[in-house]
Amino acid sequence: MSKKVLVLAEVKDGKLRQVSREALSVARRLAAGGEVAAALFGPGNGAHAEELAGYGAQKLYLAEAEALAVYTPDAYAQALTQLVREVQPDVILTGHTAMGRDLAPRVAARLQLGLITDCTAVETSGETILFTRPIYAGKAFQKKAFLEGPVFATLRPNNFAPEEQRTVLDVFPFRPEIKDVRTIVREVVRKTASGVDLSEAKIIVSGGRGVKSADGFQPLKELAEVLGGAVGASRGACDAGYCEYALQIGQTGKVVTPDLYIACGISGAIQHLAGMSNAKVIVAINKDPEAPIFQVADYGIVGDLFEVVPLLTEAFRRVLV
Ligand code: FAD
Repeated sequence: MSKKVLVLAEVKDGKLRQVSREALSVARRLAAGGEVAAALFGPGNGAHAEELAGYGAQKLYLAEAEALAVYTPDAYAQALTQLVREVQPDVILTGHTAMGRDLAPRVAARLQLGLITDCTAVETSGETILFTRPIYAGKAFQKKAFLEGPVFATLRPNNFAPEEQRTVLDVFPFRPEIKDVRTIVREVVRKTASGVDLSEAKIIVSGGRGVKSADGFQPLKELAEVLGGAVGASRGACDAGYCEYALQIGQTGKVVTPDLYIACGISGAIQHLAGMSNAKVIVAINKDPEAPIFQVADYGIVGDLFEVVPLLTEAFRRVLV
């Protein structure tokens, strides 16, 4: 049976997030000929309507209230709750981003909906939708399905192929009633200079305690720049003060699924693997041949990262730049 699917899309730094395109592609599959609707919150976001239509959105609920200019839990939860009540979708999808993680449980609780978070795969079996999500810090996967009611799920970025399909889009202005917002965002301060978003990066060069200092990250930054990637880190490197916690990947950091993950001077603790073991190709550079990271690596280089990384940068620069 066809379904009505609502995707809460996200705009960051003026750009539609890749995970929103991915969610629309999943939505089209789940709708099975039914309705694919998108929602965008924030003034000026109507500029992204055409792009949403390029990924199969047939309707866009556009809430351009000033109160939605930046994410606040109160304003966004009120807006999405009201929208879901009005649209009555069978399935609600959003990215498992910082916003999605914060917003989805609030809205699910208000509407008494079940919620499945951090999904890495979505399939259907007859009328049932099966969601796959990692458990035990990524050591195992579980498949879950709802027995009834509207389905709310957050999708892990970089796990679903965004498929283009142009549709005719109808835009509906949506004016939620927003009141009693308890937070005011005065300023958003960026901690990382890199323009590439870690959670959506296709290539990540990551450093661990083996980089030995903040300056030790410089060769990794150069490699990332040549490859058009982002720089990440282990908690060991963050705890040692070599880099910002915003770069931390792992169980208590960001979960990433890049095409290529280059781990430099990272031992491969289970808590780190929880954040990156789903990368498509893993390259490990470590001077200890017994380091556990080599057990999950597709390619391992046993050596000193301060010798190996500059050689890689030079080699890629010759080919790519
Ligand atoms: P180390 O384990 O010290 O490894 C450094 C590696 O660098 C070694 O393998 C060494 O051989 C290599 N090396 C040294 N010098 C060189 C060189 N010149 N060239 C090449 N290799 C070199 N960790 C995370 O990363 N992310 C998390 O989210 C996270 N969450 C945690 C949550 C909890 C509840 C707990 C208890 C721990 C968590 N940790 C997390 C910490 C985790 O257990 C490890 O302590 C941490 O990942 C180790 O970081 P590391 O690999 O950089 O450092």
